[in-house]
Amino acid sequence: MRGVVMYKAGDVRVEERADPTVVEPTDAVIRLTATCVCGSDLWPYRGIEAVDHQVMGHEYVGVVEEVGAEVRTMKPGDFVVGSFVISDNTCEICRSGFHSKCVHAEFVSQIGTQAERARIPLADGTLVVTPGQPDADLVPSLLAASDVLGTGWFAADAAQAGPGKTVAVVGDGAVGLMAVLAARELGAERIIAMSRHPERQELARYYGATDIVEERGDAGVQRIKELTGGLGAHGVAEAVGTQESFMQAVGATRGGGHLGYVGVNHGVQIPGIELFFAGIHTLGGPAPVRRYLPDLIRRVWDRTIDPGRVFDLTLPLDQAAEGYRAMDERRATKVLLEL
Ligand SMILES: [Zn+2]
Repeated sequence: MRGVVMYKAGDVRVEERADPTVVEPTDAVIRLTATCVCGSDLWPYRGIEAVDHQVMGHEYVGVVEEVGAEVRTMKPGDFVVGSFVISDNTCEICRSGFHSKCVHAEFVSQIGTQAERARIPLADGTLVVTPGQPDADLVPSLLAASDVLGTGWFAADAAQAGPGKTVAVVGDGAVGLMAVLAARELGAERIIAMSRHPERQELARYYGATDIVEERGDAGVQRIKELTGGLGAHGVAEAVGTQESFMQAVGATRGGGHLGYVGVNHGVQIPGIELFFAGIHTLGGPAPVRRYLPDLIRRVWDRTIDPGRVFDLTLPLDQAAEGYRAMDERRATKVLLEL
């Protein structure tokens, strides 16, 4: 089969990879319908994370081709959406809703779903079958549920977005935009998107942002305070992962408020004393997407939400290298790779 391999920073190739097969009785092999490039794939692409001939991709939707003897919830031909972390959905951690910290957790990025097919371990616990075969226009939205929507949703949930609340979103990448959508769906009254990019501001407004703040760092914090009677936002969703964005998110959260952070941290050093005096709730990390998947699939299926609009460039898998370039150069927010 064909699949993406990142040889080294900036060097993405599509080449022949071994065809996956069922190894464990709990495995499923799926044929990918669509996959995509993640903002987190840019870290190794830019040389910020080490990379050496790494298979790529952790977002995926597709059709089940083969299942192991112990798989119960799906059969060949079913359309499935999976989380970017393998989970059993039965351990104590999963049952508490934190599938991304499952005792059997394994990152799908090590499997590499920017490919024609993939072996998914613990299929019953990781994959969710859709109500039927999706119309073609629903595929991007279902794919978004696999990571960016699920991650943005976790951030908004951790920020306790809800009726009467003001939620600020730091970051206008795909996850930030999805956090805006999630905050709206969860009923937030006011949603402040922090963005300097006109097209992303427009999409943020489409997804429910009521205010846009272009300032960053301390100026961004100041602006959030001005917009909230000097208090700060009830909840802040952090979706970047840099020192500046993280501290901006801490500073923008009001005393007793909630910070949800989902931007993969790179070199962030949190001064303990600032966190101490902030007096806020914090919850973050790799999102337990599997917890949200059944609900998110239902909302997409019913056409209540259309997260698929976050994909602004679609390419065939064979042009993955161009997809990485487009995201690296910020010519695209999120690239869908078609199979
Ligand atoms: Zn588990």
